Amino acid sequence: MEQLKKEPKTKKVLDKPSIYSFTLLELEKWLKEQGEPKFRSGQIFEWLYTKRVTTFEDMTNLSKELREKLANEFLFTTLKEVVKQTSQDGTIKFLFELYDGNSIETVLMRHDYGNSICVTSQCGCRLGCTFCASTLGGLKRNLEAGEIVEQVVHVQRALDETDERVSSIVVMGIGEPFDNYDELMNFLRIVNHDKGLNIGARHITVSTSGIVPKIYEFADEGMQINFAVSLHAPNTEIRSRLMPVNRAFPLPKLMDSIRYYIKKTGRRVTFEYGLFGGVNDQIEHAVELAELIKDIKCHVNLIPVNYVPERDYVRTPREQIFAFEKELKARGINVTIRREQGHDIDAACGQLRAKERKEETR
Ligand code: SAH
Repeated sequence: MEQLKKEPKTKKVLDKPSIYSFTLLELEKWLKEQGEPKFRSGQIFEWLYTKRVTTFEDMTNLSKELREKLANEFLFTTLKEVVKQTSQDGTIKFLFELYDGNSIETVLMRHDYGNSICVTSQCGCRLGCTFCASTLGGLKRNLEAGEIVEQVVHVQRALDETDERVSSIVVMGIGEPFDNYDELMNFLRIVNHDKGLNIGARHITVSTSGIVPKIYEFADEGMQINFAVSLHAPNTEIRSRLMPVNRAFPLPKLMDSIRYYIKKTGRRVTFEYGLFGGVNDQIEHAVELAELIKDIKCHVNLIPVNYVPERDYVRTPREQIFAFEKELKARGINVTIRREQGHDIDAACGQLRAKERKEETR
């Protein structure tokens, strides 16, 4: 676990950078180096994120020379949609092949309040949570910001057909976003920018398994992004059993970093708490959990465990889930039970995995 304290280098796998990896400021800098006026960056952003064209050629208010230069320097589309599965409840799961042949998954969920997209931040995961499917093959590599941005652009293009909009984003797909911090931050800046996809910070949620130093860094960014922590345990012993990351960053240190985050941002946090039958789902655990978080401005989201064939956790019976919720409520904790979506297409929490297409077709 010692290794977790070091960030993996983003291996540059793309031949050229993806145009979707660039923030407006970075694009301005590049344009300046080419002797172009900086307002062209706004024009390029408009083509990318408002008009959502698919080639540089389409950017008709730029000179032919600049369009050629862009095409020489940057990649446009790097994701290839290979599977699109629709669930009975309207949830859609996309399987994308990346530029290097690896694959990732993205999920579109339909709510009465809008369309929410769950994006993948890493190809695989090295955190090893004992209940999660995303970590089964380990970490293949980090995604570049553009590969995360493109997931949203791609889904938005699909929604364009029915004049709908991606209204919120959750970074809760495959991977640990804080293990790919710099690319994550660029992604957030691009989708949040009013000349980018213009998705409000309060409609974006980042979830971490608890990489403590990055929680401090994130608190200092001054962004109004929603913040969620996968807690899953009322004490450090149970947490270490479920999540090896707790051995590198034990629960008391995690709670300190969360207190810092709340003090710094004035925002509340969401705790995700998966109920794993017989492990953390008893009333005594609810009592202990309430005690742990009683002085923290938070909301608890209870997630009934989702079936992962390689993992042998069992579901908590419904009545017990309600009893757990009731106990927390009685102790003044703000709590809801996560509504499940996309069950029939394996798109629910913890069921995503970076499937190797080659393996699938073998
Ligand atoms: N790595 C980040 C982002 C993933 S979010 C994080 O850990 O927060 C996905 C959420 O689903 C996390 O809260 C994760 O702990 C939870 N999860 C993983 N496997 C699950 C399973 N089998 N059942 C229910 N929830 C699960």
